[in-house]
Amino acid sequence: MARLTTALTDSFDFLIVGGGIAGLRAAVALAPAGRVLILTKADATESNTGYAQGGIAAAIGRDDSAALHGADTMRAGDGLCDEAAVRVLVEEGPRYVQELMEWGVRFDRNADRTPALGLEAAHSVRRVLHAGDATGREIGRAMWKHVVTLQAVCTVNHALVSDLIVEEGAVGGVRYFDHAGGRHEVRGRAVLLATGGAGQVFTDTTNPAVATGDGVALAYHAGARVADLEFVQFHPTALNRTGAPRFLMSEALRGEGARLVNASGEPFMARYHRDGDLAPRDVVARAIVLEARATPGPVFLTLAHLDPGRVRARFPTIAEMCGQLGLDLAKDPIPVGPAAHYLMGGIDTDVWGRSSVTGLFAAGETACTGVHGANRLASNSLLEGLVFGARAADAMLLAPQAAALKPDRREVGVAAADRRSETEGSSASFHRPPASHLTRQGIRELMWRDVGLFRTRERLQRAIAELDSAYAFEALAMDAALASDADAWRHFNLLTVARLIARAALGREESRGGHFREDYPARDDGRWKFHAIDRRDAH
Ligand SMILES: Cc1cc2nc3c(=O)[nH]c(=O)nc-3n(C[C@H](O)[C@H](O)[C@H](O)COP(=O)(O)OP(=O)(O)OC[C@H]3O[C@@H](n4cnc5c(N)ncnc54)[C@H](O)[C@@H]3O)c2cc1C
Repeated sequence: MARLTTALTDSFDFLIVGGGIAGLRAAVALAPAGRVLILTKADATESNTGYAQGGIAAAIGRDDSAALHGADTMRAGDGLCDEAAVRVLVEEGPRYVQELMEWGVRFDRNADRTPALGLEAAHSVRRVLHAGDATGREIGRAMWKHVVTLQAVCTVNHALVSDLIVEEGAVGGVRYFDHAGGRHEVRGRAVLLATGGAGQVFTDTTNPAVATGDGVALAYHAGARVADLEFVQFHPTALNRTGAPRFLMSEALRGEGARLVNASGEPFMARYHRDGDLAPRDVVARAIVLEARATPGPVFLTLAHLDPGRVRARFPTIAEMCGQLGLDLAKDPIPVGPAAHYLMGGIDTDVWGRSSVTGLFAAGETACTGVHGANRLASNSLLEGLVFGARAADAMLLAPQAAALKPDRREVGVAAADRRSETEGSSASFHRPPASHLTRQGIRELMWRDVGLFRTRERLQRAIAELDSAYAFEALAMDAALASDADAWRHFNLLTVARLIARAALGREESRGGHFREDYPARDDGRWKFHAIDRRDAH
């Protein structure tokens, strides 16, 4: 486990916010060059990385190649992947995965000791390395074990980073609350945001409590560009039982033969897509909702036709979780439904993790290199964290430089209401907007209801009206006394991310990948084949 530094100086060479796969890989690369501080807001291992089940994709099989992996990634991304970023991911990926094995990650092996490769949806060959059904936990274990041996790296856990220190247009440090609520500033010549996903912006999510999208809010408030936030991946098969957590039923289950059936026990996916149960995630997620409405009744995942011994051996963690709820994974129908799972969008970065603000870098799920386009290929995100975590570190070693706006990115302005509220916000208290009644749970419910799987202009506008008004109120409050309150920052940053996702979803008048508009159900390359950018200064 990482060392907890008690006597912390207020200056390091490099600051890393986040101890998942992206932050840890960056720390390894930075350690030989200076003093590194990793801040995590909970226990060291509490991260999306720790919950990853299915595995990590890499083109290492005999029947595979970087070109094939790239082609599958681009197809899943529904016309919006950044080709240069995809090339980096698939070409450099195998080298970094090999390095994981050298650090002691115990992937499952075939009889000949080569890594066993799993199949997941939209992959044309088996290419997913895995450690049972708890791959992320195994990777996190080995990476932390390696990182704690590095003398140059200090770690502070239960440190909630709330905002960035911006001076003369450059990021030079972070402010955070310690476990007791004390507020601190720490400086570094480069700051990496590796804060992970934002599933907790929605009520129904596979993500742990730490995944509140803080990095996006931090970067946005520092003036950085954010991109593609309308693209949220809703995983089709989270456990769907009242009162139970939305535990992920990995796609690898379907890769190994599990089938989706409706309330009458009838397999139905072939009616929705030619790839049946292994269709892209967004297709399966919407099909489950439509089938549940039409039948009507719940949708189940069934493995009853497979060898029960093999099912339990291949998926011990999932089997145990089901067992705790009185369900036998190998025999019983398992109720499933969609839940927010992965954010394709994030802080706009180039392939070196540079954001649009000098000194600020991002990697992993909080970043948007464009590698996932509108929809992430399964098991590409752990790989992304590794590859781009390392590359961001390489860039942090050089003189700080901001990323230029790429030609396929466009600033979009849905923000008339926003412009108004922020102008009011910066003036005087007699313009103070009405008090916000949106609690954090209220934000999540609103996002699930109005900014979820099926979106329309009407629902999005309703959501944005509420989020805008709450944001205007909270932004004023943050300027005042409440800035010293960790909980107020948690609320403000969650609200910021929710509002950015909703605005991006209203802006994109087409359906593509994870973003589905009932009022614009078709993909429209003529108008929308670009990455939509939002930025605080734009309003
Ligand atoms: C249930 C589940 C299963 C998944 N399965 C797979 C899979 O099989 N294959 C795959 O490729 N991907 C999978 N994913 C996605 C993948 O796990 C994540 O995208 C990836 O691990 C993200 O890594 P990261 O380093 O970017 O962030 P994370 O691993 O989420 O780490 C984020 C870190 O940031 C810290 N942090 C956040 N905010 C703050 C703050 N304000 N202050 C301080 N610290 C902060 C957290 O404490 C944490 O340490 C899965 C995700 C989930 C939830």
